Formats: sequence, structure tokens, C-alpha cells
Amino acid sequence: MDIRNLLRENIKNLAPYSTARDEYQGDLGIYLDANENPYNNGFNRYPDPRQKELKKVISSVKKMPVENIFIGNGSDEPIDLVFRVFCDPRIHNAVSIAPTYGMYKVAAAINDVEFREVPLGEDFSLDADKLLAAADENSRLMFICSPNNPSANSFPAESVEKVIRKFNGIVVLDEAYIDFAEKEGFLSRLGEFPNLIILQTLSKAWGMAGLRLGLAFADPFIVDIMSRVKYPYNINVVTQKIVMEQLAKPIDKQLQELKQQRDRVMEAMKKMPVIKKLFPSDANFVLVKVDEPRKIYNLLIEAGIIVRDRSRIKGCEGTLRITIGTPEENDRLLKILGELE
Ligand SMILES: *Cc1c(COP(=O)(O)O)cnc(C)c1O
Repeated sequence: MDIRNLLRENIKNLAPYSTARDEYQGDLGIYLDANENPYNNGFNRYPDPRQKELKKVISSVKKMPVENIFIGNGSDEPIDLVFRVFCDPRIHNAVSIAPTYGMYKVAAAINDVEFREVPLGEDFSLDADKLLAAADENSRLMFICSPNNPSANSFPAESVEKVIRKFNGIVVLDEAYIDFAEKEGFLSRLGEFPNLIILQTLSKAWGMAGLRLGLAFADPFIVDIMSRVKYPYNINVVTQKIVMEQLAKPIDKQLQELKQQRDRVMEAMKKMPVIKKLFPSDANFVLVKVDEPRKIYNLLIEAGIIVRDRSRIKGCEGTLRITIGTPEENDRLLKILGELE
């Protein structure tokens, strides 16, 4: 498969915006090239459009060469970009599992690209053949989220690999929750798959949702194309600086605690009459089935606890999605749920 042939014609021939900082990349000097305010307040200069320093740090944390790293304004940015790069509106289509993260469908709609949803099987299992069968010669993108939101389960690596190998387009594998999973994701195997884009984020395990930083890992050809299409200054100065500081602090202990809390919350829920079904979780949230989701949701709200009602989503009837909080927050949640019939 030649990835070049999957690009939209306008993208193939795109001459990207050239910034002042692209032309001169030294460190010291008098910068009179970008019409900035010359007085230093910490953010008077434009950010590095190539995020060179930040990419070096991410490269060492993720053990991936910088050439394989794209940095976006949250995962939202690479999700939108793949449509803009690979799909001609009203011609090409994208295939996705369902239920899954809602942003893929929204990005498809915004880009006027047909979005094909293939229902997961019993207990949210993945059928690779069914997914592949939904694709045709105009299918450019395939979305798989593992561990999946909102079902919380991971899919077997063999099934995901089969889809990547057999699909004649780009597979976007969203690993937003991979840090909470039992098994390793696909990052260390990226080099085997020229058509694979792995999404990760600093919004969950790394605790930086407010800074907006999403990562896409892919073949350097894809990274280069996405970098040409993105807004030049998509990651602001403050985010680049603080993310570098935060990435220097290990998160292992916190991750361990969150996973322990997840297991503890699930153990407690197993014994509760109100919980009719508890789905396995490889993430920092649990999906539970109850008889009256809206009622429970409202009872929790009255107690000041906000969860996500997923009961109107096809395949998730009767479910609530509950994020794992601090031990004290989880205590409160469990106390209230435990008192219900
Ligand atoms: C939370 C989440 C993300 C992260 O989105 P950001 O824009 O990076 O905050 C990505 N994918 C899935 C499936 C998620 O649940």
C-alpha cells in the first residue's frame, strides 16, 4: 500500500504556511521578524511551530523517535486532521466500531464524510471481519479505540492487528487509556504498520486535560503531512513549557493508586444490589448497568456526584459511566450506591 495514494489531491500539492521561525532557527539574537511585542513577559514570542524541545522530551518518555511524533491541541486535533488529510467530503468514508468515543463521528460530520458504524458484539467484543466487511474502495479511515470508551474493555491485539494488516486505508487506533491497561499497546510495534496512527493523550493518566495536548504516533510520512496541515502555532508557549516540566515527574505511583482504586470500586460494586452488571475495565472508569439509570444519575447529582449517563447510546442501554476519583471521592460514591436497592 502506498500511503501517498490515500492523500487528497489538494493535500498532496499543499505548500504550507512558512512562519518566521521556520526560516531562522537560532536561539540568540534580536528578533525583528515576526511583528511581536519585544518586551519579555514569558509569552510575547510565538511558540515553536515544530515543538522541537517538547518533542525531544516526549520522545524520551515514550521511547519513540521524534520523526514519529505529531503533537496536537488535544486528541481532537489529529482526529479532525485525518479527515482533512485523507477524505474528500462526500466521496470517501470512515468505518468505526460502535459504541465508541463520540468525537470521531462529530469530526466526520464536520468534514462532511460518511461515517459507518459497526456494532460491537456481545459484551463489546470486536469482530475484525465484520469491521473489514463494512469497508469499500472509498473507505479511507478505520477507527478503533482500545481500551474503548465507554465500554472500558481492550480488544485482543490479534484482532486489531488483523484490521491494520487487511484494511486498505489508515487505521486510527486510539489508546487514550492505554496507561491503565493490563497489556501493552501498539506503540512499540508502530514500525510494522505504515498505515497505522496511534493516538495517545496527556489528558487522562498524565493529568493534563486542561493544557490540551494530544499525541499521534505514525510513520514519518504521515507525521510530516499532518504537520503541514495543522495550524502553525497549534501548541501555545505556556502548554509547551508546563508539559515539559510535568513530563519530568513520574506518574507511576499515581497510576498504581488509580488502578488499585478501580479494582476496589469494582469489588465493592459486585456486591451491590443496584448494580445489575459490571463490565470489565482496562481504563480509569467503569461502565455499570442499572435498572433505572436516569433515577440513579439524579440521586447521585443530589449528592453532588456527577457521572455520565450513557443509557441513550445504542448498545449501552441502562448504563452509567463512572470515572475513578480520589479514595475519598470513591468512598462517597460507594456509600451512596451501596444504600440503594
Ligand atoms: C478522553 C479521550 C481522549 C482525549 O481527548 P483529548 O482531546 O486529548 O483531551 C481521546 N480519545 C478518547 C477515546 C477519550 O476518551
